[in-house]
Amino acid sequence: MNADLILASGSIRTLGRSGLQAFSHLAIASGQVAAVGGPEVMRLKGPTTRVIDMHGGAVLPGFNDAHAHVVYYGLTRFGADLGGTRSVDEIVKRLREHGRSLKKGEWQLGLGYRVDELAELRPPHRTELDQATRERPCYIDERGGHARVANTASLEAAGLMGPGQDPPGGRIGRDRNGLPNGLLLEAAMRLVSDVQPPPPIERRQEGILLAQRLLLSRGVTSVGAAVNRGFADDLRAYQRLADGAQLKIRINEFLSWELLEATSSLGVLKGFGGPMLRAGPIKVFVDGGAERVAMRSGGGVWRTTPDELRSLVERASRAGLQVAAHAIGDGAIEAMCDAVEAAGATGLRHRVEHCTICPADLQARLAKLRMVAVMQPTAARFGRVASALFFPARDRKDLAAHGPLMKAGVPVAFSSDLPVSSDPNPWPGVRAAVEDQVNGIGMLAALRAYTVGGAFASFEEDHKGTLDPGMVADLQIYDRDPLNEPTASWDQLRPRAVLVGGVRVFGRL
Ligand SMILES: [Zn+2]
Repeated sequence: MNADLILASGSIRTLGRSGLQAFSHLAIASGQVAAVGGPEVMRLKGPTTRVIDMHGGAVLPGFNDAHAHVVYYGLTRFGADLGGTRSVDEIVKRLREHGRSLKKGEWQLGLGYRVDELAELRPPHRTELDQATRERPCYIDERGGHARVANTASLEAAGLMGPGQDPPGGRIGRDRNGLPNGLLLEAAMRLVSDVQPPPPIERRQEGILLAQRLLLSRGVTSVGAAVNRGFADDLRAYQRLADGAQLKIRINEFLSWELLEATSSLGVLKGFGGPMLRAGPIKVFVDGGAERVAMRSGGGVWRTTPDELRSLVERASRAGLQVAAHAIGDGAIEAMCDAVEAAGATGLRHRVEHCTICPADLQARLAKLRMVAVMQPTAARFGRVASALFFPARDRKDLAAHGPLMKAGVPVAFSSDLPVSSDPNPWPGVRAAVEDQVNGIGMLAALRAYTVGGAFASFEEDHKGTLDPGMVADLQIYDRDPLNEPTASWDQLRPRAVLVGGVRVFGRL
C-alpha cells in the first residue's frame, strides 16, 4: 500500500496507545492513519505520495468539542453583538446601530451581554430596548443562554403584555404594577421565540458555515452540535451543506427532547448517520443556567421535573437512544442518575452536560451507571474565581471535579459550550484543567478529554480521536509544539493547518 500523504520530521503525538510520546513520521492513506513511527514510515512512499517536511512542527489529533451550539452561534452572527457591553445605555446604542441594517418589520436579535458585567447589575427593561427599537420586535439573549429580554413589541406579539402566569420551569419578570418588565427566564423564553418567524434555511446554512470556519480555525474537527429547541430544520441544513460538499467538520447533532417521539417512530437508533453527520443524543434541560442550578439543598429551577425526566429517559432508552441532560447542580445530576438507574439503561452512555457541581457519591453513581460527563474545563477557573455570584455555597472539591470524576472511572469529554464561551479555542480549557489547584488532571488526560473523550461520548472511539493506525486522519498541525510553549500564550494558539479525513480543510500545508 502506498500513502497519499506523509508528514515527515515532525513531533507527532497520537494521544492513543503511546500517549504523549512524540514520533517523527505519519502516513495517511484513504483518509486514515496508515502508519506512525520513525523514518521507516517512508517505505510507504510511492510515486504519487506527497511528502511534507514538518521541520519539527507538531501534530495532534483534531479536537472534538463535545458540546457547542453550532446553529445558534451562527444565527447570532446576524444579530446585534452585545458582547463586552458595560451598561444598559451601551446595549441600547448597539441595538440602535445594528437596527439600521434591518428591513422594515424584521425582528431584531442580539446576544452577548451579561448582567454581572453591566454597571447597573440588572438586565435592561423592555422600555429601554424600545428606545432603540420602537415598533420593531426585539429579543436579546444573555450570554449564558438562559435569560432573555423582550421589548414591548415582541411581548405584544406573544400576547404577554397583560397579567398572566409563569409557565412551568420558567419565570416572566414583572414590575410592581404586575406588567412584564421584559425579562424572560428559562422555559419562559420560548413564549416569545415561539411567535418569532423562524430564520430561513439559507440563513441557518450561512450560520453553520460561520461556526464551521471558527471551529476549524481552532483545530476542532468534530463537534457535538448542541441545541436549545427542536428544529428538525437543523439536520436539513447540515445535510444540504454535506450534499454540496461544503460540510467540512464532523457533526454529531443533538435532537431536542421535543423530537423524541418523532425520532423513535422513525426507528432512529443511537449513532444513526454517516461519517460527517450523525443524529446525536436527545437533549433535555434538567435545571437552569448558572444562576438557577438545582441543588439538593433546594433552590434553582427545574426545567424538567425528576418525574418527567424519569419518563423521558425511560422512553428514550427503550427506543435505543442516548440522552444528554443539562444538569449543573447536584440535585439535577442526582435526578439524572435516578432516571438512568430506573430505566436500567447502562449501555447507552447517557450524558450529563456540564456536571459542574458533582460530589463524590454522585461521581460513584455516574461510574456505576456507565454515564459520561461532558464538561467545560474553563469552569474550573471561572467557577472558582467568579462563581460566588452564581453558585450556592458548595465544597470546592465538588466544583469542576475533573480529576475525581476520572479517578472514579467516569469518562469525561471536554467542550466549549460556544457561544456561552465566545471563543471555542480548546487550549485555555486544557490549561484550566491542568493548572487547577483543586481537581487538576495531567496533560494527557486533558488532551484526551478534548479528543477521544468526545468520540467516546458519540460511540465513535473505535475510529476517531487518536492518531493510532486505522483511525481517521483528523489532525491539526502547529508550527511550534504547543506543549513547549508557555501556557499563558495558549489563548493565542492557532493551528497552521487542519485535516479532516486526510484532506486539508483549514490553513496551509
Ligand atoms: Zn449548552
